[in-house]
Amino acid sequence: MRRQRSSKIIATLGPASAGAEVIEALFLAGADVFRLNFSHGERETQQATHAAIRELERRSGRPIAILADLQGPKLRLGSFAKGRAELAPGQRFRLDLTQEPGNAKRAPLPHPEIFAALEVGTEVLIDDGRIRLRVDKVEADQAQTEVLAGGEISDRKGVNLPGAVLPITALTDKDRGDLQFALDLDVDWVALSFVQRPEDVAEVRKIIAGRAGLMAKIEKPSAIEHLEDIIDIADGLMVARGDLGVELPVEEVPGLQKRIIRAARAAGKPVVVATQMLESMVHAAMPTRAEVSDVGTAVYDGADAMMLSAETASGAYPVEAVTMMNRVIEQVESDDLYRNLMDAEHLPPEATAADAISAAARQVAETLRAGAIVTYTGTGSTALRAARERPIVPILVLTPKLDTARRLAVVWGVHCVQTEDTTDFTDMVERAGRIALRDAFAAGGDRLVITAGVPFGTPGATNVLRIAWVEEHHEPV
Ligand code: PEP
Repeated sequence: MRRQRSSKIIATLGPASAGAEVIEALFLAGADVFRLNFSHGERETQQATHAAIRELERRSGRPIAILADLQGPKLRLGSFAKGRAELAPGQRFRLDLTQEPGNAKRAPLPHPEIFAALEVGTEVLIDDGRIRLRVDKVEADQAQTEVLAGGEISDRKGVNLPGAVLPITALTDKDRGDLQFALDLDVDWVALSFVQRPEDVAEVRKIIAGRAGLMAKIEKPSAIEHLEDIIDIADGLMVARGDLGVELPVEEVPGLQKRIIRAARAAGKPVVVATQMLESMVHAAMPTRAEVSDVGTAVYDGADAMMLSAETASGAYPVEAVTMMNRVIEQVESDDLYRNLMDAEHLPPEATAADAISAAARQVAETLRAGAIVTYTGTGSTALRAARERPIVPILVLTPKLDTARRLAVVWGVHCVQTEDTTDFTDMVERAGRIALRDAFAAGGDRLVITAGVPFGTPGATNVLRIAWVEEHHEPV
């Protein structure tokens, strides 16, 4: 099965998409990666969902990536005596460490570390920024605030402190347990929420120890300040626009999205645009024009993948949302302007053999109108460099490692096939031809541009570019 597009689709799973049948329908509609959101759901459900995806993968013969998204240090208020309270602009409101349920004058905020980071003037945002408080006075166990934007406040609402770098790691005790559970399940990617500094990513990278790719969610101002260093350490990035638009003024999100995509693409690391892409499809069978345009913009920007959250996790139209995203991506990618943009933004190769070969492969493939660039890779690193070129022809990635094939499912333009390591030039050409025929990347007589490393099977040794013809007599495998 071959997708007719380069940008990938991530579908978040939840109550609306828990069963094997819906997961298969989402996959057939276009989902390349499934996201398990550890902010919600029981472990038994995550385990059953994971098993259903692996079974689907076995039946379809296509590598599918599973992304475990850790909740991170999401700060929350405690509870209210009546479940809720009403705050008026201009009134005083206290946040404190007492266990007493809250009311219209005060509320518990059970995070001692926050009070140490608060300063006079710090803004405290509650419920995605709907309620805004400004700190007037702060002590070790309480803060007096003035209500800047009021409204209803209720149990366990989320709290954001955009102006403060908090003395907390991106990995809570719950995250540590979830991470171990996810790694034991054998997920392909782990997404880390509320990254503030490169050290947050480094700490988790050590724990993962190569067992999964690590995606840093960019949603804090301090992560933007350290963007380059975070990209260096992470394997991929997510523009987590939900919290990003609370932590920073929402009007800054479009520019930041473009900046993050550019920086990740320059580094050759996959970048995902997430949240509210087709939000109205949670309740309606058709999206708004603005949402369609938003998906289109992410595609024109050259992002690797677009993510659906509530649309597929809890919405009424999960399959329709993936179908719509698939249609929008295919349409944008068939536009000449899209190709012009990818060409105009072409990134210079770095001074490595893999980049020299990848840049040459793109040029040769486009000049000869080859059916595909075929990349033999073990770790997947050459496939990432080939994708960084954003070539007009698809990239057929052949790897002996199933985990590499799965991890690359999130990457722009690559179609991965697990196959035995090649042993000589004849086998390299024949195998590429057979698989290209089978997966409809080429017909007999078409050309392929093949890259590989010699001696064969040596990691990190990409040094060969071969132009080959697909033989009429190549039997599709
Ligand atoms: C986001 O904030 O945009 C995001 C993707 O994270 P979550 O869905 O965990 O809030």
